[in-house]
Amino acid sequence: MSKPQGGTLSDHKDRAAAYLERFRQQPAGHYIGGSWCSTNGAELFENLNPADNTVLGSVVAGNEQDVQSACEAAACAFPDWAAMAGSQRRKLLHHFADLIEQRADEIALVESSDCGQAIRFMKQAAVRGAANFRFFADKAPEARNGQSLFQPDHTNYTVRAPIGPVGIITPWNTPFMLATWKIAPALAAGCTVVHKPAELSPLSAQLLAEISAEAGLPPGVWNTVQGYGEVVGKALCEHPAIKAIALVGETTTGRHVIRQGADTLKRVHLELGGKNPVIVFADADLDRALDAVVFMIYSLNGQRCTSSSRLLIQNSVRDQFLDALKERVAKLVVGHPLDPGTEVGPLIHRGHYDKVLGYLTTATEDGATIAVGGTARADLGPGNYVAPTLLTDASNSMRVAREEIFGPVLTAMGFEDEADALQIANDSEYGLAGYIWTRDTGRAMRMAQGVQAGMLWVNSENNRNLPSPFGGTKMSGIGRDGGDYSFDFYMETKNVCIAHDTHRVPVLGTSTD
Ligand code: NAD
Repeated sequence: MSKPQGGTLSDHKDRAAAYLERFRQQPAGHYIGGSWCSTNGAELFENLNPADNTVLGSVVAGNEQDVQSACEAAACAFPDWAAMAGSQRRKLLHHFADLIEQRADEIALVESSDCGQAIRFMKQAAVRGAANFRFFADKAPEARNGQSLFQPDHTNYTVRAPIGPVGIITPWNTPFMLATWKIAPALAAGCTVVHKPAELSPLSAQLLAEISAEAGLPPGVWNTVQGYGEVVGKALCEHPAIKAIALVGETTTGRHVIRQGADTLKRVHLELGGKNPVIVFADADLDRALDAVVFMIYSLNGQRCTSSSRLLIQNSVRDQFLDALKERVAKLVVGHPLDPGTEVGPLIHRGHYDKVLGYLTTATEDGATIAVGGTARADLGPGNYVAPTLLTDASNSMRVAREEIFGPVLTAMGFEDEADALQIANDSEYGLAGYIWTRDTGRAMRMAQGVQAGMLWVNSENNRNLPSPFGGTKMSGIGRDGGDYSFDFYMETKNVCIAHDTHRVPVLGTSTD
């Protein structure tokens, strides 16, 4: 257990093997009511390493009964956890963050091995996860605060209370970071949690459940149920004890979550897919824009909800910008995720790899040009490696411009002027994020107003600010995370109205007729 260490590929492989050994010996299972459930006799499925498709270990395929037990445990723990002073929750959650930091090396190597993200990015996983805990820990004492709303004859005040046990369903692309981002505010607000990690990347959820016990969270405050979305996720959405579901996943899954939660009127927060435009005007700092364009699609293997997967480049600088871009994309280092030199690692699993490669066929069928990449990287072995790909001569009506590929594939299109850029940017069913590059402040302001997205960055890649609202519009989701927005989701607001005894109370039933 230590902070992330440096090292070569072989150092990383050795340390990862040591951390992963126990998952070979023992299936990844459920943590419910403060105890690890027996895995004897449980239905299991295999967890594969994206780097070579060898088996990392097995995972318990949870069932409805497991969800029932986890929800009961969360419901049982809720009253005491909700009643605990915010200052005490603050202390526990800071301790949680300390423990994350102490296990940073293990978290980075396990996460990188489990989901194929390059170690250069996963080294930040623990730092970012701990930051999520510390940020919301500090807010715990004020979470219940409300407003005072004055009227001449009455004073209204609001108070907030944690909504109850909540279900948190996370995806496979950056599982550790996203789990901490969703769960830390729920705990700080006073909710108890049932976490359903993605079946394709179950391991960091095991580490988090362990840390929850080490940190001293009371039994039942944190519960983890492993397994498939269609079984465990569905049962969680349907369970009456669960008062809200926070999902990070695909748009289709968001639709299922709404349907499955309808009978119990579940409050839902959906962070879904995107097809985010990066719009580069001729007057931009083109060198900085180039760096950001490359980073925001090819880092994290393009498996990032806020990736800028559509490049809109102004026609007057299109050829020059695309030439520079081609050179950079061709030089990206694809390799083993544990290699410190790797910039693009393998995709999460074979099915997703086939899907991404399928889009490259689609691209040519629809008339786009594969300017760089466009193939599998079978030369790197049996892992799910795809060459970073740049598609040019594309139009916004092509499938590669409309559908979320979620891989290292950038679709580039030209535009003439501001109005043209806006029309293309907004001609999408998604509305998660957008990036605007220009030196003209007025234009930046107009574009930021006009682009339909939950988050806009001007002259930046996606800089993270924990108090800022994070979330999407259109088919990219419902609701916002971050700062107080998270508490609004995980808490109920109550209004209390107190009379000043100065108003006339309506009088009925005094008729003398
Ligand atoms: P996914 O929707 O397939 O799975 C996400 C989670 O939902 C998994 O835990 C899965 O088991 C579960 N699930 C599946 N079916 C379910 C059901 N019927 N009921 C309840 N739960 C169910 O997504 P993924 O493939 O794991 O992740 C990639 C997707 O996530 C992409 O679309 C990406 O854009 C999106 N994403 C969005 C954000 C964001 O903040 N907007 C962040 C990261 C990823």
